[in-house]
Amino acid sequence: MHGTTHTQDLRRYVERSVGLSALSLRIIAVMKRLPEAVLSDFLNDSRFRLALDDHVPGQGRAVWIACPKPGNGSRCVILKASLADCPKEFAHYVIAHELAHAHLRNGGWGDLEDPERAADALAARWGFKRPPRTIAKTAVDVSDETVPSVNRKFAP
Ligand SMILES: [Zn+2]
Repeated sequence: MHGTTHTQDLRRYVERSVGLSALSLRIIAVMKRLPEAVLSDFLNDSRFRLALDDHVPGQGRAVWIACPKPGNGSRCVILKASLADCPKEFAHYVIAHELAHAHLRNGGWGDLEDPERAADALAARWGFKRPPRTIAKTAVDVSDETVPSVNRKFAP
């Protein structure tokens, strides 16, 4: 998929990765709003992966990642299925935040050295600001002041 990334290509990519569901529509809605260069980078990088979390309590989870190459590690965004059910604004924010981590390869951004703050700032730049806590609380149990992350906040 070189050149312009069309909506059809994006839809196929997302559905191939996570299936057709309410969550895939939310992922597509977020990815359509990413800058073209960022989206192309994801879709043309064989080391980028998008997947549903298959965590089973007591058994753990399987995460398949592409073999990293020197100077270009694997990037994997694992999303909880519950992101299909929580408020849309919050789900969009979490998806964008996780994609920002992947884009930044879990590093900082500009003056922001903390990966969580960097991912939040980049997600906001893309148009997905962290929602007010009142919205977040309806989706997850926010028990501290930390930035929500898929792994912590949606862990069973
Ligand atoms: Zn994060």
